[in-house]
Amino acid sequence: MNVLVVNAGSSSLKYQLLDTESREVFAKGNCECIGQDKGIFGHAELGGDKVKEDAVFPDHKTAISLVLKTLNELDISIDGIGHRIVQGGWYFDDSVIVDDDAMAKILEVAPLAPLHNYCEAEAIDYCRSAFPELPNVAVFDTSFHMTIPECAHTYALPKDIREKFHIRKYGAHGTSHRYEWMRAHEILGDKVHRLLSCHLGNGCSLAAIVDGYCMDTTMGLTPLDGLMMGTRCGSIDPATVCYLQREGGYTYDEVDDIMNKRSGFLAMSELTNDVRVIRDRATEGDPKCLMAFDMFGYRLVTMAGAMIAGMGGLDTISFAAGIGENDPTTRKAFCDMFEWFGVHIDLARNEIRSDEPRIISTDDSPIRVMVIPTDEEYMIALDVKRLVEAR
Ligand code: AMP
Repeated sequence: MNVLVVNAGSSSLKYQLLDTESREVFAKGNCECIGQDKGIFGHAELGGDKVKEDAVFPDHKTAISLVLKTLNELDISIDGIGHRIVQGGWYFDDSVIVDDDAMAKILEVAPLAPLHNYCEAEAIDYCRSAFPELPNVAVFDTSFHMTIPECAHTYALPKDIREKFHIRKYGAHGTSHRYEWMRAHEILGDKVHRLLSCHLGNGCSLAAIVDGYCMDTTMGLTPLDGLMMGTRCGSIDPATVCYLQREGGYTYDEVDDIMNKRSGFLAMSELTNDVRVIRDRATEGDPKCLMAFDMFGYRLVTMAGAMIAGMGGLDTISFAAGIGENDPTTRKAFCDMFEWFGVHIDLARNEIRSDEPRIISTDDSPIRVMVIPTDEEYMIALDVKRLVEAR
């Protein structure tokens, strides 16, 4: 089945047209700077180089319409469209073929992710009206986490406030964590039972997965919680927010901006959120970059400990995303901290660079460690196929 996967962000829209059987990617690209005076349209097809051109995208509808027009010229039939939706709220524990009811729910929960859900809804709206014959499937970053037990997803706030504002742990990166489980299970079969999935990219989160069901994750009401990330601070004492507003005179928007866009690796390195650059500087001995990795690693290990305790042990660890797939030093540092627990990394296997999933622990390691390059687009496309075929 040929599926168009659309990933609309607050000011960008990425897409990929792929075949679910062969996994061939026919075309992919992105629309950048949506809502600004000048934008860029990047498009690559059939394995060729990406061609970039200037474009103006006043809104997401303009962006998706250009994508569909460009793909139309390719002469490859599209059987369905999968849309990545950041927040499914309390409604969606699985992906869904979008109808009017699903659309209303996506908009109802949008205040929990206002920068994303509204523009994602705009893209779906356009696709539904321009191609009414095509199924549109919404795939939520949160739905995989709906199996997290109540004691782990509930915040100890007054009931009336919790219920009125639907406050709970929703998590994120669910499509990636789900892919990690799927691939680990395909490769290891019944040997994988308790998996710690480590998605370490610009955004970072862990998921504790038992027999395919998510038991806990480090992100919370929003993707700000949990691990230290590229520009996000991760977990801090929530009183810091009140303190900054009360004593620092910062507005709500300023605190939001500080914690989401000016913190994390960027704040600690005082240089960049690009972990490649920070790794190079740390290797040269830069104390701020070394400290950034010490903090990142310490939080990673302590939060992993909480995830492992929550699922009562583990047998497999997987690493994914930009840092998880490409930074052997982070993987080694993590595994060394769990050596006492039975995590034995094979140094040569850890250095191998590949797009393929691989085991990087020693043959006799009681706990297996894997690198499983994530593929959220493929996972979304598989959901489209599953739901459309089950109609
Ligand atoms: P993602 O969000 O999955 O695209 O990951 C982006 C992050 O991965 C950025 O911080 C990159 O600097 C980081 N990254 C990519 N390649 C490497 C690498 N070889 N070593 C360390 N970090 C990397």
